[in-house]
Amino acid sequence: MPQHPDDLRPETVLVAGGRPDKVPGAPLSPPVTFTSTYVAGADPNYARGGNPTWTAFEDVLGRLEAGRALAFSSGMGAIAAAMALCPPGGTIVAGRHVYNATGGLLEELAAEGRSKVVRVPIDDTQAVLDALPGADLLWLESPSNPMMEIADLPALCAAARTANVVTVCDNTFMTPILQQPLAMGADVVVHSVTKFLAGHSDVVMGAVVTANPDLHAKLLTRRTLHGAIPGPMETWLALRGMRTMAVRMKRSAHSAAILAQRLGEHPAVSRVRYPGVGAMLSIELTGGLPAALALENGVSVWTNATSLGGVESLLERRRRHPLEVDTVPEDLVRLAVGIEHVEDLWADLVQAL
Ligand code: PLP
Repeated sequence: MPQHPDDLRPETVLVAGGRPDKVPGAPLSPPVTFTSTYVAGADPNYARGGNPTWTAFEDVLGRLEAGRALAFSSGMGAIAAAMALCPPGGTIVAGRHVYNATGGLLEELAAEGRSKVVRVPIDDTQAVLDALPGADLLWLESPSNPMMEIADLPALCAAARTANVVTVCDNTFMTPILQQPLAMGADVVVHSVTKFLAGHSDVVMGAVVTANPDLHAKLLTRRTLHGAIPGPMETWLALRGMRTMAVRMKRSAHSAAILAQRLGEHPAVSRVRYPGVGAMLSIELTGGLPAALALENGVSVWTNATSLGGVESLLERRRRHPLEVDTVPEDLVRLAVGIEHVEDLWADLVQAL
């Protein structure tokens, strides 16, 4: 008997999902549907509400995260929609360190009086638990960007559920290959699809995933009314990139583990922040800020650029961004490991260090 689609492993879902039915003459790859409207009489009737290319992408991501996915125009578009699940005047509990534009959005919500925002060290479980009573939304990013702190997701999600707090987890750094927050008790997952999912540094896109029908309906309404929708071409590129995510992630993560270990033994490196999983790590330098600047300018296989999750290895000093909080050390350099040969990546770092 053929395997039921629900029983397929993530590596297979990535390859097999979101394809047209296998009937004679059907294309193997889903087409890109460029249209702004549809012939009346069926849903969606307009392309801000739905697109078959989004459906193909959403099918794959939803199955990987065990929920229903919605494609958004960017990670921040998805994050803004998920944050709007906090009712006006409600309270959001969030990590002290989160992606800096997420932090900027939290600050804006607080400054405009639309939400109360409580920032906590996400790796201090008791501090997060203490902040939950009376809150409406718990924002989790684990590992945190760029400090690589790890939250106890199962414990925090369970406590949030008991306290009636909606939990959102940014799973961009881990991808559903390495971490499935919904299975750990989160209500909503958000992704910057721009990163490991699309995987080739050529698309900006986002997504939310939830298994809760009410939250799905709210997020869909938000996307349709606020219009943060991706183009069909971007969505197709993201889906094409996702086909190889499992092998890319495995290779990048393997190289990251090797680099983390070697960097930890290098005299020019004073601290390595590596969560033991994934393809992201941050380092601090014995020579401080001048050494960090020299590293950024001294690499040639690596590229000094923001972003992560592509086949190309990138590094950058995070404090160059005005939105980065000052608890991130000035000399912290974040490394996003790609799929090049690890010895070329290492040799390039060594000569620049
Ligand atoms: N979440 C994380 C963890 C990120 O690193 C980023 C971008 O760097 C985002 C969200 C935002 O995604 P986007 O740039 O696709 O809007």
